Amino acid sequence: MSQHISVNHTDLNGETPWIFMDRDGVILEDEGYTPKSETPTLLVDTIGGYYWRRLRDLGFQFGMVSNQSAINRQLNSLSSIIHRNELMIKALLEMECKLNKTTMCPHTPDENCKCRKPSPTMFYDFLSQGSDKFLRSFMIGDKITDIEAGNAAGIPPGNLFLVLTGNGLSDYENASDALQIANVVPSINTALEMIEKLIVIWRS
Ligand SMILES: [Zn+2]
Repeated sequence: MSQHISVNHTDLNGETPWIFMDRDGVILEDEGYTPKSETPTLLVDTIGGYYWRRLRDLGFQFGMVSNQSAINRQLNSLSSIIHRNELMIKALLEMECKLNKTTMCPHTPDENCKCRKPSPTMFYDFLSQGSDKFLRSFMIGDKITDIEAGNAAGIPPGNLFLVLTGNGLSDYENASDALQIANVVPSINTALEMIEKLIVIWRS
C-alpha cells in the first residue's frame, strides 16, 4: 500500500479548528499490532464524552491521525483495522461523540514515506498547509512523535497534550525536548476537559 488512508465519517464543516487525536493508547486501549480482543476498549469515559460534546458545540471537529504500520508489516489487514475504526466510531456515537474524519499511514519506518508521524503530512488532509486554524487546533497523543507532528503542522506548544495512557508513560520517562513543550495529562478525558476550559477562557 503506497498512499495514506483518509476517510470522512460525517459531512465536514469546512475550515474549523480541529481536535486531533492518535488512536491506540489515546482513544482506544493499545493492544499492539494484532489485537486479541474483537471489540476495542474505549479510553474515553463519561467525563471525556461530556467535554467532547461541549467542544463540538463550541465549533470543533474531531480527527484521528494514526500510524498503522501493522498494515505494511503484514501483521494486520487494512480491512480489519478499518473495521476496528468503525467499532470505535460506533462506541463513541453511543455517547453522542462524533469522530468526523480519520487518517492512517500504513507504512513502516523503513519505507521513508511522507505521511508517517512525526511528519505533519496527514494533518493537511484536515486543514490546508499553513492554515491559521492550526493555531486554534489541538493534538492529543501518547508518543513524542504525535507531539512533534502536531507541532510541525503548526499547532502551538500550549495546545499539545501527551497522555500517560498507552505508550505515554514510557515516552514521558524518556522525556525529550519535544515533551518539554507539551502538556502532560493522565488521559484523553483530562485533555478534553482542559481544552474546553481553555476555550471558555479564550472566548470570555
Ligand atoms: Zn506513510
